[in-house]
Amino acid sequence: SSSSRTFWVGGNWKMNGSVAAIKELTSTFNAGSSPSDVEVVIGAPFVYVHLLSESLRKDWAVAGENCYVKASGAYTGEISPEMLKDVGAKWVILGHSERRNILQESDHFTAEKCVKALEAGLKVVLCVGELLEEREAGTTQQVVERQLAAAVNVLKEQDWSNIVVAYEPVWAIGTGKVATPEQAQETHAAIREYLKTAVSPKVAEETRIVYGGSVNGSNCKDAAQKPDVDGFLVGGASLKPEFLDIIKATQ
Ligand code: PGA
Repeated sequence: SSSSRTFWVGGNWKMNGSVAAIKELTSTFNAGSSPSDVEVVIGAPFVYVHLLSESLRKDWAVAGENCYVKASGAYTGEISPEMLKDVGAKWVILGHSERRNILQESDHFTAEKCVKALEAGLKVVLCVGELLEEREAGTTQQVVERQLAAAVNVLKEQDWSNIVVAYEPVWAIGTGKVATPEQAQETHAAIREYLKTAVSPKVAEETRIVYGGSVNGSNCKDAAQKPDVDGFLVGGASLKPEFLDIIKATQ
């Protein structure tokens, strides 16, 4: 982490939860201590975003886990960024590897979602990351640059102040195989270097780049020491009281 960038920790509940479970987890989170210099965001399934935004502590924010690219209309089953905002979300997670790989969503479609979400006034967690075979083939950096380039091409420089980049190697997500702090740092530094040339030195310096993939209460402290690791996007452990330890990784 770096003192010039506010540490950012997001929970990504994915397709988990129920009204009862969310009420219980929210009361645990609301009773915990949260450092005032850490920004905390929780991503919930669409149907629970309203409930969560009404019940969650006000110093934390709520995110949707996806959105569509239109404000309203004949798009059966889709949810607009405007709707997410209307029910209390301040953020949206876009380009998660489960959407890229299971739902086959492209770099281009993800970038278009970023534009529309920002226009609607949401902040964006833009997820990037390589598959195991891509890491083994030595193409990690090419893959994340390709994913980022789609967004760089359609965003304006000032848009980046409302974006957090989440580097999530797909082989580390939900597998218990966390990237080493050195692996995270290496890719984060390369992403920052890419942003420097592709966008601007200012955007590179100010953009939070967070790590995701099997982060838990015990492995977060070492990774948080790395200069280019500005926080975490947490899946499984964000459904547990342990999340309260992860937000204190730098303390
Ligand atoms: P995990 O998920 O922490 O359960 O590995 C991270 C993510 O997919 O955002």
